Amino acid sequence: MYQENHLAKRIRHASIGREDAPFLEVHPSGKIVSYGAFFANAEKIAAALVRVGVRPGDRVAVQAPKTVTMLELYVGTILAGAVFLPLNTGYTASEIRYFLGDATPKVLVCDPRNLAALTPVAKDCNVTTIWTLAADETGTLAQARGVESAGFTAIARAESDLAALLYTSGTTGRSKGAILTHLALASNSETLREYWRFSQEDVLIHALPIFHTHGLFVATNITLMAGGQAIFMAGFDADAVLGYMPKATALMGVPTFYTRLLGLDGLGDAAKNMRLFVSGSAPLLAETHDLWRAKTGHAILERYGMTETNMNTSNPYKGARRAGTVGFPLPGVEVIVADPETGSPLPQGEVGVLEIRGPNVFAGYWNMPEKTAEELRENGFFITGDIAVIDDHGYVSIVGRAKDLIITGGYNVYPKEVELLIDALDDVLESAVIGVPHPDFGEAVVAVIVAAAGSAPKGDAIKSGIAPELAKFKQPKRVILVDELPRNTMGKVQKNLLRQRFAGLFG
Ligand code: AMP
Repeated sequence: MYQENHLAKRIRHASIGREDAPFLEVHPSGKIVSYGAFFANAEKIAAALVRVGVRPGDRVAVQAPKTVTMLELYVGTILAGAVFLPLNTGYTASEIRYFLGDATPKVLVCDPRNLAALTPVAKDCNVTTIWTLAADETGTLAQARGVESAGFTAIARAESDLAALLYTSGTTGRSKGAILTHLALASNSETLREYWRFSQEDVLIHALPIFHTHGLFVATNITLMAGGQAIFMAGFDADAVLGYMPKATALMGVPTFYTRLLGLDGLGDAAKNMRLFVSGSAPLLAETHDLWRAKTGHAILERYGMTETNMNTSNPYKGARRAGTVGFPLPGVEVIVADPETGSPLPQGEVGVLEIRGPNVFAGYWNMPEKTAEELRENGFFITGDIAVIDDHGYVSIVGRAKDLIITGGYNVYPKEVELLIDALDDVLESAVIGVPHPDFGEAVVAVIVAAAGSAPKGDAIKSGIAPELAKFKQPKRVILVDELPRNTMGKVQKNLLRQRFAGLFG
C-alpha cells in the first residue's frame, strides 16, 4: 500500500505485520499507541487531506502542541504526497503571517487557543482549510480524521519529490524555507539508525519538539525505521525523563537536557540500563560530557546537523566519543573545511567554513533562488556557515558560527531580527544583540542598547515593547544600556568585545 511512496515505504517497512507492537507510550497517561493504530490514523488523515483538496506537492502547515495526532498528521501528509510544514509553537501571529505568505499552504492546523488570531492571517494567505489540534488531542483535525476509513493507498512519490519544508531563521530577519526531499529524509534516518544501532528492542525517550529536524526526523524517523518504541513526552521534564530511564534504552537531547539532568539525585542508578545518550543542535560543553561520564559511566554521543542538511557528522558508536568534537562524517556524507573566499579545501588542521555534500542535503531555499545559489554550490556542496576544523584523527570540531547565530536552549536566534525590532522603538538609538554563556540555556539572548538622545529607557519597557512581535525564546533575557557600541575602523560593531565584556552576566 505504501510501495510507490519513497519515504512512507521506508518508515513503514519495519512494522509491517507487527500491527500490535507498541510504537508510542504517551506521557503522562501511559497510553500505548500500536503501530497498526498509528498508521491507520495517519491513513485517515491522508484521506481527510485529499478530501479538502490537498494535491501532491501542496503544503500542510501546522503550529500545534506536540501530540500523537500531530505525528499522525506528519505521516498522513507524506502519504497524501504533500509537503509537511511544521512551525515553532513560539511564533506569534505576525511571524506566522510571513510563513503562510511565503509557503502558501492549503491547510493550516493550529492550537484552538490561537484560532481567532490566526484565522484572518490564514484567510489573507489563501489557506483553504483551518483545523484545530489541542494539547489533549481534541479539535477539528481529530473530527475530520474520525469520518474517514483506514486503508489509504499512499500517493506515488519519488526520491526527488518534496516531503517537508522547514524554516530556518534568516540573518536579515527573513526566515528561509529549506526544501527537504523524500531521499534526504529517508536516507539520513536510515544511515543514523544503522550508525547508532537502533532496533526493535529500543525504547527512546522522546522529549524534543516535533517542529524541528531533531525531534521530527532524527528521533521519530529512526524509531519508525527501527520498529522500536518511543516514550512520547509533550515537553522536557527532567524528573519524568529520569523516571523513565530504567525502562528505556536511549535519549536524544539538546545540551540543556543534560545539564538539567545532572542536577538530579539518582541519575547514576537510573541510567544503568540505558545504552545511548545523544546530544546535538548546540555545542555540548566538554565539562558536561565529563560530568555525565563520571556520574553515569556513559559517554554522551555528540552529533552535528542542521535544518538544511539533516545530520552530517557523529561521534562513533564504538570507539572514542571525544568531548568538544562532533565526530566523523556520516557514511555517504562528504565534509570539507574550505577557504571562505575560494571554497577550495584547506589542508587538514586548518580552520575554515564547513561544506557538506550528500543525499542528506536540501534541494534549495523555497522561493529564494539567489540565496540558494549563494549557499548551495553547483557541484552540490552546501556552505554551512559553521566554522570548523578537522583533527588528524578525522574528528570534526565546530569552533564558531560565521553567521553570528545565538543558540539558546537548542533554539536558533538570529540577532538581526531582534535588533530590528528594538531599533524601531522610540527610546532606542541602536542595539546589538549577542549570546552570552548561560548555565541552563547554553547561551542567553542579551540586548545591548544605546538610548535615543534625551531618553532613558528601562530594560522592562524594551522587553515588553518587542514581546508581541517575537517568540519568547528570542526575547532578550537581559537588556543593558551603554553610552556607545564598540566599532572597528570599518564601522562594524565589534560584538566579540561585547561578548567578552558581558560573558560573566549569568555566571
Ligand atoms: P538548526 O538548523 O536549528 O538545526 O541549527 C543548525 C546549527 O546548529 C548548525 O549550523 C550549528 O551552528 C549548530 N549545531 C548543531 N549541532 C551542533 C553541535 N553538536 N555542536 C555545535 N553546533 C551545533
